[in-house]
Amino acid sequence: MTFDLSPRPLNPAPATPKMIWPNGAKSALFIGFDVDAETAWIGNNPSNVDRMVTTSHGGYDARVGIAKILELMAELGLKGTFFTPGWTALAHPAQCEAMVAGGHEIGHHGYLHKLPDRTKRDEAFEEIDRGFDALKSALGIRPVGYRAPSGENFPELLAYLKKVGIRYSSSFRDDILPYRHAGPDGAVGPVEIPVNFAFDDWNFGMSSRTSSRPLFGRDPVLQLWKDEFEATHAWGGVTTLVLHPQVSGRPMRWHILRDFLKHVIDKGDVWIATGAEITDHYETLEAASAR
Ligand SMILES: [Zn+2]
Repeated sequence: MTFDLSPRPLNPAPATPKMIWPNGAKSALFIGFDVDAETAWIGNNPSNVDRMVTTSHGGYDARVGIAKILELMAELGLKGTFFTPGWTALAHPAQCEAMVAGGHEIGHHGYLHKLPDRTKRDEAFEEIDRGFDALKSALGIRPVGYRAPSGENFPELLAYLKKVGIRYSSSFRDDILPYRHAGPDGAVGPVEIPVNFAFDDWNFGMSSRTSSRPLFGRDPVLQLWKDEFEATHAWGGVTTLVLHPQVSGRPMRWHILRDFLKHVIDKGDVWIATGAEITDHYETLEAASAR
């Protein structure tokens, strides 16, 4: 495989349109959880499947994390989007059914959490198909949103997602407002609800023997999240969270998340919405401006 390194915008999406949030809100909050469970540990490293302690990081999702997160969302009266690998839904159906019963949106997050790789396109497309099949058989759901496992994407995959009915993606890091993807040929792609990597709890709260990272406590994380949110709010953007029950469902981190969400709610002029709701709103504005 050769690589085309010619100078060009590597994301060919057109300019981001202006955004007016519903109900006079100044900004939006999109609460996204990635319910990786054990797939975070076996998807890109299959030999880990025989390492029970390594995979037990992900096992926390099913034993504790998902339930605690659902409890928090119910307490605060919030709805979020739970990006769920197909494998997770098949392995832990009761916990995933509780997410549906709580009124939350289920999003596509691959099948086995394999990083999408342009040099293995068939495998990448198969991850999409198997993910759809698993969510259908375990939960009876066909998701409209997609977050890339391990956060990667490429043009043919974006086109494939659109073709199979994905209305929005939430993986890219190149904006603070939703925008519409376009293929290199100008073809219309899904809506993007971009993420802010500062809100990926894995960066601060996950460390393991084989992949050790520094851990950050309550004060630095809560302050970082509040400051980043306040600045995004002032700019009228969307604050997109990339949270994992195996991280933010841990006791101390659960309280960081609770305090942060209460801070956003207390603001009073933030539209807190699921990915599907943000996409509906975006498409309504898009249709109105095309008239
Ligand atoms: Zn994930």
